[in-house]
Amino acid sequence: MARSNDEQTLREQICDVGKRLYQREMGAANDGNISVRLDDERLLCSPTAVSKGFMTPEMICVIDNDGEPVAGETNRPSSEIKMHLHVYRHRPDVNAVVHAHPLYATVHAICGKPLTQQVMPESTILLGEVPIAPYGTPSTMDLPNSTTAYLARYDALLLENHGALSYGADLNNAHFKMEALDYYAKVVYLASQYGGAQEFSQAEVDKLIELRRTRFKLPGRHPFVDGE
Ligand SMILES: [Zn+2]
Repeated sequence: MARSNDEQTLREQICDVGKRLYQREMGAANDGNISVRLDDERLLCSPTAVSKGFMTPEMICVIDNDGEPVAGETNRPSSEIKMHLHVYRHRPDVNAVVHAHPLYATVHAICGKPLTQQVMPESTILLGEVPIAPYGTPSTMDLPNSTTAYLARYDALLLENHGALSYGADLNNAHFKMEALDYYAKVVYLASQYGGAQEFSQAEVDKLIELRRTRFKLPGRHPFVDGE
């Protein structure tokens, strides 16, 4: 079947994001996976057992809303596609999902340390806090089910003893949340080695959240905006 220009562009975007993840230590070997909504019935997904740093547009897999390859598709989707589908089902506003093992974020997820400190305008405005979803065995429904309680309020999660998950209105949005999440984790970690971070007052946090709402008008959810 002939591909639309949009589909070709999305395939190339998935490969570009995969390269960035791999080059920025957000996944060793074949770690991580990326998906994007193609239309109401179909998604594009990174293939199983391929390094995210070495994908080509031909390797990307077309699947239906149940995660099954569409008729004629010979590529096989990531084993973690269940987690992506779970996000799409709970968040109709989401059109792209990224799962990775960023180094500093994963260290936080392994040490049981959620990202809660308010230390930089960017992380407060974009992410607020990043909780840890309880551990679930990879490739089983335990992993997606562990995220359910967080999906309505958060656009980025740590996955206990595993890695991180981010999602958004488009692939750049989802990918930048992953980068921002890991930068936040790195800063918090390094600050803890350097006497501890100074945190914003609640009044400063409130001002940043007001900026998010009025000036930046960011899409997606935020724990300080979307409540309990
Ligand atoms: Zn993983």
